[in-house]
Amino acid sequence: MFKAVTSIAPAASSCCRRGVLFRSSAPLTSFYQLNTSACFSTTSQLMASTEFKGAKRLEGNYGNVWVEYIALTMKHNALNLGQGFPDFAPPDYVTKALVEAVTGPNVLLNQYTRGYGHPRLVNAIAKLFSKLHDRPVDPMTNVLVTAGAYESLFCCFQGFINPGDEVIIIEPFFDCYEPMTRAAGGTPVFVPLRPSKPGSLMTSAEWKLDPAELESKFSRKTKALVINTPNNPLGKVFTREELEMIANLCKKYNVLVFADEVYEWLLYDGHKHTRIATLPGMWDRTLTISSAGKTFSVTGWKLGWTVAPDHLMKHVSAFHQNCVYTCATPIQEAAAVGFELELGRLDSPDCYFLELPAMLQPKRDLLAAQLQEVGMLPVTPDGGYFMVADFSHLGVETGDDSDEPKDCKFVKWLIREKKFATIPTSAFYSKEHKSVAENYIRFCFIKEDSTLRRAGDILKEWKRSLKQ
Ligand code: PMP
Ligand code: GLN
Repeated sequence: MFKAVTSIAPAASSCCRRGVLFRSSAPLTSFYQLNTSACFSTTSQLMASTEFKGAKRLEGNYGNVWVEYIALTMKHNALNLGQGFPDFAPPDYVTKALVEAVTGPNVLLNQYTRGYGHPRLVNAIAKLFSKLHDRPVDPMTNVLVTAGAYESLFCCFQGFINPGDEVIIIEPFFDCYEPMTRAAGGTPVFVPLRPSKPGSLMTSAEWKLDPAELESKFSRKTKALVINTPNNPLGKVFTREELEMIANLCKKYNVLVFADEVYEWLLYDGHKHTRIATLPGMWDRTLTISSAGKTFSVTGWKLGWTVAPDHLMKHVSAFHQNCVYTCATPIQEAAAVGFELELGRLDSPDCYFLELPAMLQPKRDLLAAQLQEVGMLPVTPDGGYFMVADFSHLGVETGDDSDEPKDCKFVKWLIREKKFATIPTSAFYSKEHKSVAENYIRFCFIKEDSTLRRAGDILKEWKRSLKQ
C-alpha cells in the first residue's frame, strides 16, 4: 500500500499546487486521506522549490473591478444594475440568424473562417463604415474582427505600445485601458473630466476636460491617446469642438488615437456622435473600436472590430493573428445578417440602431426620477447605458473604516445589506484622481422597466429606514 502511495507522490503534489487536490483521481484521494501528514510535507517541499513567478508585465494587474463586484453580486444574489448588459432579448433576426448559421445547410459555417474577419461580416462592416466615415473602407485591409471590443483594444495596445511609451487616458475610462497599457510596457498618463457643478444636478455634458491640463500631459514619449465616446460610465458624448481640440493636440504632438466608440448608437435628446477619425487629418492616426455586443444587445457574443487605415491595421492584425487568430464563425455570420438588414434602413425609425436608444431614453428618465426621489443627484447621460449619481449628502453609514474610496464602501454595503448591485465610479479613475468620483456610483439602465422599478423600490425602502 505505502509503496504504491510514494510512487504517485510527484503527480499528486503537482495537483496540490493547482488547488484541485480533493477533486483529483481516486488513487490520489485515497493517498491523501490515508497519509495527510506525508502529503503536506511533500507538498510544502515541492512548493518551496517550484514557486513560479508570474510574468513581470502582470504586476499590479491581478485585481479588476468586474471580478470583484460580479463575485459579490453573485454571492448575495443581488438585483443587478452593476455590469452592463441588457436583461431583455436581442432583436430576433440576429438570434434566428445564429440558429440558421449553426443548423442550416451551410455546414461550413460551423468551421474556421478567415482570420481577420468572416468575409460576409467584414463586407457589411466596411459598407456601413464607408458611409459613417464618408470615405472608402476596404473590407479586407481596413476592418479587423476580434473577440469583443476588448480584444480590439488589447491588439491596439500590443500592436503599438513599447516600453517607455506614454499613453494619455481620459478619465473616467473603461478600466482595462490601464492594465493594457502596462502589459505592453507603457506608462498611462491620466487626465480627468471633472464635474463643473459638483453637489448639484448635472448632465454628462457638464463634465469637462481642461484643455491646458490635457496639453500639459503630452510629451515626446506620448505614443497614443485613448478616448471613449459616448463614455462609460458618464454617458458623456464629446462634442465636435471638444474632439477637435483633442485631435489638434494629437496632430501637433504626432500621437495615435485609440477611439473606443462601442456606444456609438446610444444617443439621447438628439445628441450626435462625432467620430474622431472623421475630423480633418485624423483617419491616418486613428483606430476606431466597436462592438456587436452593444450594437445588437448581445454582450455575451463577444464580437468586436477595429476600423483603421492599412498602415495602422497591419500591426493590430499581426497581433490578432498570433493570439486569437479567428473568431467564432456562426456569431460573425449572424452579426453580418444583422448589419445587412440594418444597412437597408439606416435612417428609418425601425432601424435597431435608432430603435434601441428610443427605447432606452424613457428607461434613463425612469431611473433618474427614482434616484432623485431618494435624494441622490443623478448625472443625466447624453449617451451610453450607464448613469452615475451623487450619494454623498445622504449621510450613509456603512460602518466600514477601511481606506477604500467612499463609493466602493457604499456599493459593497448596498450589495451586502440591500441585495442591490451597482459599480463604484472611482473604479474608472486612476489612483491619483479617485477623489473626483468617489461621491458617485454607477447604475446600468439597459434593463426591463420592472427591473428598474424593483431597484427604485429597494432604494425607497432604504430611504425610509434612514428616516426612522
Ligand atoms: N469599451 C467600453 C467602453 C465598454 O464599456 C466595453 C464593455 N463591455 C468594452 C469596451 C468591451 O466590449 P466587448 O464586450 O465587446 O468586449
Ligand atoms: N462594459 C460593461 C460594463 O462597463 C462590461 C464590463 C465587463 O464585463 N468587463 O459594465
